[in-house]
Amino acid sequence: MRARLIAIIAYLSTVAAIGATVWWFALGAALGQLEERGRADLKLASDRLVSELQSYRELAVLLADHPALVPLVTGGSGDAQGVEKMLLGVADMTGSLEILLLDRDGAVVAQSHRFVRPKPRNMSETSYFKRAIRGALGTMHWQFGDQRQRAFTFAAPVFGMDRKPAGAVAVSVDLEQVETSWRAAPQVVFFTDEAGVVFVSNRAEMLYRTREPLGALRARQEFPGQYDPAEVRPFYEFDAQLRGGYEINTQSESTYMPERSLSVTQSLPLMNLRGEVMVASAEAEQLALFQALVAGAIGLIFGAVLLVFAERRRGILQRLAVEAEANMRLEARVAERTAALQQAQQDLVQAGKLSALGQMSAGISHELNQPLMAIRSYAENAEEFLRRDKPEVAGENLGRISELARRMGRIIKNLRAFARQETEPLGQVDLGAVIDGVLELFEVRLREEEVHVVRHAPEAPVYVYGGEVRLSQVLVNLVGNALDAMEGKENKRIEVAVDVGAQVEVSVRDTGPGLSDPEKIFDPFYTTKEVGRSEGMGLGLSISYGIVQSFGGAIRGRNHPDGGAIVTVQLTPAEAEELAA
Ligand code: ADP
Repeated sequence: MRARLIAIIAYLSTVAAIGATVWWFALGAALGQLEERGRADLKLASDRLVSELQSYRELAVLLADHPALVPLVTGGSGDAQGVEKMLLGVADMTGSLEILLLDRDGAVVAQSHRFVRPKPRNMSETSYFKRAIRGALGTMHWQFGDQRQRAFTFAAPVFGMDRKPAGAVAVSVDLEQVETSWRAAPQVVFFTDEAGVVFVSNRAEMLYRTREPLGALRARQEFPGQYDPAEVRPFYEFDAQLRGGYEINTQSESTYMPERSLSVTQSLPLMNLRGEVMVASAEAEQLALFQALVAGAIGLIFGAVLLVFAERRRGILQRLAVEAEANMRLEARVAERTAALQQAQQDLVQAGKLSALGQMSAGISHELNQPLMAIRSYAENAEEFLRRDKPEVAGENLGRISELARRMGRIIKNLRAFARQETEPLGQVDLGAVIDGVLELFEVRLREEEVHVVRHAPEAPVYVYGGEVRLSQVLVNLVGNALDAMEGKENKRIEVAVDVGAQVEVSVRDTGPGLSDPEKIFDPFYTTKEVGRSEGMGLGLSISYGIVQSFGGAIRGRNHPDGGAIVTVQLTPAEAEELAA
């Protein structure tokens, strides 16, 4: 039970581990794809921004070379009005917000628009102007107007006759105008300036946000863009989670931003900007989770099937064990009963023998009495003949006496053998001799009751497998039963026949009334005899049945069609038995 519990827990842990691994790798793969896509999106957005701004940068460079501008900044006489008209025309044509011509000190010499827009503070201090006046290209982003629109400015140096920067041309562009073209993109794209403040984005609420610590930023006055530092706000609060090898940003502050996202960055050195895209990752994460759950579910189903099979197998084994035990108990009981039965049968055999002995002792005393009487009279006669000096006749009588004595000896010998406790081994028995012995036992009774005995047997001796004494006991029973059955009847006849085939059959047939219930005659204590000297115990045939069976033979009784009973004993021929052995 405990082992099973541990196995189940171990299995569940394995499934969980597999699920977690699947989740991690599926997530890694999904986020990898997402990152790839984000990178492509960002590149597209950056390229757009750069290409749109690029034209204004080129415009600044081109204008700086214009021959009409140089005299204005170098202090020579120039047509300021003509130049301003020209600048306005260019600005209108190119969609520029404003074009300024600045002198060496950063003062405005000419401007495209008549009305004065609020200018970046400390123009000469701005980084873009500083760069331009050193002969390089400067950039700046700043705010203008009541709506606090954002502008991006490129400044190109104007070279004097001495080939030294004498001033600068600044071309500004309204960023709103650039952004509108990619505002609808699904991902959040934004560009931060060198201070880390978002200045360009396709989401308005991202503007002026920064990840940098605000206080320090303000204290350092590090804003390169000319915009109001008070407008700079902290970034949304993002938490970073490591998933599948990628960092996932989570936020719940803004509904315009994905709650969970993956960010990809790219720097744009030409514009002094750094682009970043935030790709929503929730879907990819859900997909990975789903894959992990499917893997886990498959594992669980597999485990459940395995468990069911194991349980079934356990049940079957248990049932088999129970059945095996029941079988064993049954076998033990059968063996016990068999032993008891065998014991009972042996006891019955012995009892039957004693009963037969009792029956026979009456007959035998009768049988011995008769020759004894004859011997006495022969002896008396012989005495008389000797006295009369007739020794031949006396000799004849003596011969008869010795003949009778021999017969008595034979009777006694049969009796002894019969009474002996049965231990004789099984072997080859001369069937004819056994029949002779049995008929001899009944000789007197047969004669007195005028029974006609018929024997059918082959000439040659027939040997069967069995025990001589026990076989005699069987035949004594059969002949005795036949005699009992014919008591008081006319035409008494007993036929003893031996048939030799694959088996040897001995049958005893009589001319009595036949069997009243052939099915029952082998049952112990079944008897119909109640009176006289042949009062039965009902054991004779049942004992005979057991004996014949112990020889490997069979016994059955039926009524002969011509009347009377016929009981047949089937025995194994001794030769066949020897062959088999
Ligand atoms: P018992 O002789 O003590 O009755 P048996 O077992 O030898 O016991 O015989 C059982 C019964 O079978 C007899 O009582 C008798 O009814 C019947 N039986 C046996 N042999 C014959 C026969 N030859 N003719 C008629 N009935 C017979």
